Amino acid sequence: MELVLYNTLTRKKEVFTPLCPDRVGMYVCGPTVYDFAHIGNARPVLVFDILYRLLKRHFQDVTYVRNITDVDDKINAAAAEGGESIGDLTQRTTVAFHEDMAALLALSPDEEPRATTHIPAMVAMIESLIEKGHAYVAEGHVLFEVNTMPAYGQLSRKKRDDLIAGARVEVAPYKKEPADFVLWKPSTPDLPGWDSPWGRGRPGWHIECSTMSGQSLGETFDLHGGGRDLVFPHHENELAQSTCAHDGKPFARFWVHNGFLTVNGEKMSKSIGNVLTVRELLKHAPGEVIRFAMLSTHYRQPLDWSDDTLTQAREKMDRLYTSLREVEGLSPATEEAPDEIESALLDDLNTPTALSNLVGFVTALNKAETADEKARIKGKLLAGGAALGLLQQSPEAWFRWRPAGATHLDETEIERQIALRNKAREAKDFQKADRIRDELAANGILLEDRAGKTIWRHAG
Ligand code: AMP
Ligand code: ZN
Repeated sequence: MELVLYNTLTRKKEVFTPLCPDRVGMYVCGPTVYDFAHIGNARPVLVFDILYRLLKRHFQDVTYVRNITDVDDKINAAAAEGGESIGDLTQRTTVAFHEDMAALLALSPDEEPRATTHIPAMVAMIESLIEKGHAYVAEGHVLFEVNTMPAYGQLSRKKRDDLIAGARVEVAPYKKEPADFVLWKPSTPDLPGWDSPWGRGRPGWHIECSTMSGQSLGETFDLHGGGRDLVFPHHENELAQSTCAHDGKPFARFWVHNGFLTVNGEKMSKSIGNVLTVRELLKHAPGEVIRFAMLSTHYRQPLDWSDDTLTQAREKMDRLYTSLREVEGLSPATEEAPDEIESALLDDLNTPTALSNLVGFVTALNKAETADEKARIKGKLLAGGAALGLLQQSPEAWFRWRPAGATHLDETEIERQIALRNKAREAKDFQKADRIRDELAANGILLEDRAGKTIWRHAG
């Protein structure tokens, strides 16, 4: 089976084959660490998590690199505003990012380079760009000279005039052309800075990713990903820097971009006050529900997030775990990702189809008559779930999830009440048994009697 991916560079779906057979290198732009991750930041993490899991099933040696941008003007501004040191802010938000993405069941990348630990390599790359005539020094800045690269604009397909008009291109007196972009800029004593041939300064954002991807994966590598907003200028500029520094050698062979996420039809922004952090959402929904909701839309489509998105995902996940609970005693008959899931994912990561096929197994299970058949479908549910990063906890654990802050009885107390109720039922004291059941229900604990056993779960 072939993996087909939409390549932003060619604007076509193409069969993906790695540069070296069985070895894949993937670089995805990671977070700029100055605040909690919002639900938009989680989209590339989950999309490329699906791709990473898929690549690992089809190729022997996969290296997934996702950087941490820990030097950036937004970080400096946030640290100053919050009265926190830059080091404390980036450390704290990096830890929070890891926690939040783990709660969404995202696998960790194989390498996570931090920009601040790669400054000498950035300086070396800039020096080489100057030497090769692609960059110039002006007033303590080093700028990439866009006119030295005829193919500039090939990824975003922007024409020269659009480059200057629409985009976030800074016009500055020291630039030869407004489209020239910063590789290095001077730092004031209160801002982070490193010694360089051009004085104390700090790197531009684009050179960080060009350097770190090259260091981890080599000059030419298989796949580069990120959100669609990064196509221009970030990825266009990475492409320009790396190609020119490497004497025209191709940079990333496939460029994969996820669509943008909006909340209730609006772009998230601090000024509107509609920024939805993953941390906040996790108080109201399990990570798996957020994951299901996110993957219900194809990664290239825009995704509009609303409460409904979560409610629907919750219902589907409840159905899936209810099915798994019904076949708890059976051993799964397969560990291979089922074709219904795999072929959808191989077709440009069609997660909506994969998810609906996963839920389709529930119907198949309800119709199954023999234990063998049930064991086979259980295997499909678990292995299909694993391909999507879902269904990897026990049904008990799933049904015991509860929102943060809800009052709760501890588990020993619940078990004690259940034992008391069972005793009452044995003694045919149904009034008492019902009272215990109602009291538990009033505390948000629902009981179900099945096959001689009483199990409990948290209500909604
Ligand atoms: P940043 O921390 O802003 O550099 O973004 C980290 C990653 O999240 C990048 O790949 C962005 O493209 C992506 N991203 C940021 N906001 C959104 C959004 N609203 N929808 C989808 N992806 C986003
Ligand atoms: Zn990047």
